[in-house]
Amino acid sequence: MSNELEGRTALVTGGNRGIGLAMARALGIAGAAVAIVARDRARTDEAIADLQAEGIDASAHIVELSDRASCQAAVAAAVRRHGQLDILVNNAGINIRKRPELYSEEEIERVIATDLLVPFHLAVSAYQACMETRGGKIINVGSLLSTFGGAVFAPYSAAKGGLLQLTRSLAIAWAPQDIQVNAILPGWIDTDLTVSARREVAGLNEKVLTRTPAGRWGDTKDFGAAAVFLAGPGSRYITGTSISIDGGYSVAI
Ligand code: NDP
Repeated sequence: MSNELEGRTALVTGGNRGIGLAMARALGIAGAAVAIVARDRARTDEAIADLQAEGIDASAHIVELSDRASCQAAVAAAVRRHGQLDILVNNAGINIRKRPELYSEEEIERVIATDLLVPFHLAVSAYQACMETRGGKIINVGSLLSTFGGAVFAPYSAAKGGLLQLTRSLAIAWAPQDIQVNAILPGWIDTDLTVSARREVAGLNEKVLTRTPAGRWGDTKDFGAAAVFLAGPGSRYITGTSISIDGGYSVAI
């Protein structure tokens, strides 16, 4: 077991399932203490029990991330419990799929708040709480929709595109403080999020299998190594960039 993150603490939003839980587990196995922030108490307790069974120092923080105050509260709770914060993984995300003209104002605002404004507020809170003096790592989870568009993805693509740009600007601003800010851009990954997409978007499963050069859906286990690399000392001179984990989807014509 590698221990390159020994002595570090990571806050992972949406770390109670899916891609977030896989990254939290990998960071913990690499030696980091892990603070999980999510809304669903039962699911989060279950995830924490699994992580603790693997010997990981994991804590649950039930917070509905929606605005600056909730983000400050989440960071403060993690710092209170673990004494420090070195790694922030902005993973929590939601999507509402419909044609652009059919969204309510509340739906547009909710997707953009969760997928763009919350990561911005959390990054600033982490910076102010710890990273300004200790350095640190921020990993923003974008999407294929950070660079592609789609007829039923307008607020999500606007938010995820914005998150990629936010990654670049925070990276430049905080490089002198030894803070690296990078993005992971997942392709089509088999999680709760895409189970609902497969239900709602006719032909999606077949399209993913034929359009993805690797010929399969991504697995959450495909994310652990990249998360550890971007959270660890080996990526200290890498900032403002992104790693696509998409089986080749984004480079295939
Ligand atoms: P899931 O839908 O499986 O999980 C989403 C997580 O976010 C849950 O843990 C959920 O926890 C948490 N969450 C959502 N809203 C909030 C909120 N307001 N406050 C706190 N926690 C919240 O997602 P995936 O694992 O599939 O996706 C993870 C990330 O990867 C997302 O950012 C997503 O956009 C991105 N992504 C995923 C792709 C895929 O194919 N799966 C493709 C491209 C990008 P709870 O419900 O308990 O709050």
